[in-house]
Amino acid sequence: MHKDYVGRFAPSPSGQLHFGSLVTAVASFLDARSHGGKWLVRIEDIDEPRCIDGVDKSILHTLETHGLLWDGDVMYQSQQHHRYQQVIDRLIAQQKAYLCTCTRKQIKAMGGSYNGHCRHQNIEANTPNTAVRLKVDTPLEAFDDLIMGHIQPPLSVHNGASAMAEDVVLKRRDGLFSYNLVVVLDDVFQQVTHIIRGCDLIDVTPLQRAVYHALDFPPPAYGHVPVAAIAPGRKLSKQNHATPINNEHARENLVRAMRFLGFSFPQASEFDTVQSLLNAAISVWNRKIVVKTPEIIVPQHESTYYSQPL
Ligand code: GLU
Ligand code: ZN
Repeated sequence: MHKDYVGRFAPSPSGQLHFGSLVTAVASFLDARSHGGKWLVRIEDIDEPRCIDGVDKSILHTLETHGLLWDGDVMYQSQQHHRYQQVIDRLIAQQKAYLCTCTRKQIKAMGGSYNGHCRHQNIEANTPNTAVRLKVDTPLEAFDDLIMGHIQPPLSVHNGASAMAEDVVLKRRDGLFSYNLVVVLDDVFQQVTHIIRGCDLIDVTPLQRAVYHALDFPPPAYGHVPVAAIAPGRKLSKQNHATPINNEHARENLVRAMRFLGFSFPQASEFDTVQSLLNAAISVWNRKIVVKTPEIIVPQHESTYYSQPL
């Protein structure tokens, strides 16, 4: 047993799982299990206006039907507000975070990225319509992705040096906690050591790593897998009406996910159960085999494509 490995799958309940999200779930599950690690599920329902009632349950049901069984209780971000606020209050008291009144318009006038304007303004605690920002004094660093290799964030256009991370918003002016805060706080809280997720999040990874540094936590290891897209730059998503996963074809869906990731894998009919299929998948899982392209185009026009037997 590899005690030092805790992985997770963190879907947002803004729509049912589709093929692209199943691929991410499978990859993070297999990476965790093949290393003898734990695998957690966290429902990222922080952006409540975008969440749909009951979708969390159907996501969990789809995972169970596909044999992707998690360890421990499922965490819901909507139930963690108290903890997030405590962290923010502490950071403000330690002067590691501060209030900011800048509007989107003002930030646009700064040239599109926030320039630290409110850092030294000492804005009073109960000023309405304020965001909370973290002081970030580290540059956006390169990192070694477990799957995609060395990832270099874009360099500053001014001097070619590493760009500085901007002071990240922790809580928005409308009172919502920001995704880049809660994802880090939860991964720290749940002691996650390995994050395997879709390449659509590779660009924010240097920023999230800067948040870890600013909070004095060691960042986890990251591995990004290709995302399924219907056209260049258009990942499969609820917005473009990706077909929800059909639970009646769990084995076929799993085989399709394995092949999408780059593994040559037997036909679904060779396995009697999802469990035996997943055991075979765990034994062939190898980060080196995973396709290194950030995006793979899949057919979307046949609405039943992902539901058909294979
Ligand atoms: N909740 C995010 C999503 O559904 C994933 C966040 C993550 O894996 O870090 O895209
Ligand atoms: Zn400001």
